[in-house]
Amino acid sequence: MTGKKQLLLGTNNPGKIQELSALLAGLQLELITPRTLGVELSIEEQGTSYMENAIHKALTWSRLSSLPALADDSGLEVDALSGAPGLLSHRFTGNPNACDDERRHMLLDKLQLFQRPWFACFICAVAIASPGQEMITATGYCHGEIIPEERGTNGFGYDPIFLVYPTGKTMAELSMAHKNRVSHRAKALLTARQKLIEQLHVKSRITR
Ligand code: IMP
Repeated sequence: MTGKKQLLLGTNNPGKIQELSALLAGLQLELITPRTLGVELSIEEQGTSYMENAIHKALTWSRLSSLPALADDSGLEVDALSGAPGLLSHRFTGNPNACDDERRHMLLDKLQLFQRPWFACFICAVAIASPGQEMITATGYCHGEIIPEERGTNGFGYDPIFLVYPTGKTMAELSMAHKNRVSHRAKALLTARQKLIEQLHVKSRITR
């Protein structure tokens, strides 16, 4: 125990844990993961919106741990595919054990039927549930386009084929510090972080 207030990051995705930890850096909070608690749990995403899923996940983690818990739900929406893969971004291939590589290939296969540019948007909804407190929510967007070849090795998921406007680089070519200034998750967290400071009365060593 560090004497700091604790916040559970309700996700098992290592890429997200890394980004969320960096985005919450400087707060007088001890960040915990399900792994630290020794809990293995996969929460079904059955909602009809990113926010519904994020709230459900945050509430489940908070009830389970009796701690404030932060969860996000995110996805990639491609205009040519009428917003797909969207809410199904993680389950896009139909195979629950598919990897990021397979998801990217499937998306590129589907896009071959359409002319470029393949405009797209990343969306992230964040919810923080704390026992006895009002739910904190925030949403962030990042606009760009899908490109046919992979570029860069940072990040995760669809990052290597997502060109971030107006940087001229894919999300995977941006450093983590840069991604954390422009990404959908960063934008949602910026708002949520401020609300969290007010709700939990935690101190911040840096102003973002
Ligand atoms: P979920 O938020 O855990 O449902 O995951 C949605 C899926 O969207 C992830 O598995 C990734 O494939 C994709 N995704 C969400 N955020 C990002 C991101 O920042 N970069 C790349 N892919 C992402």
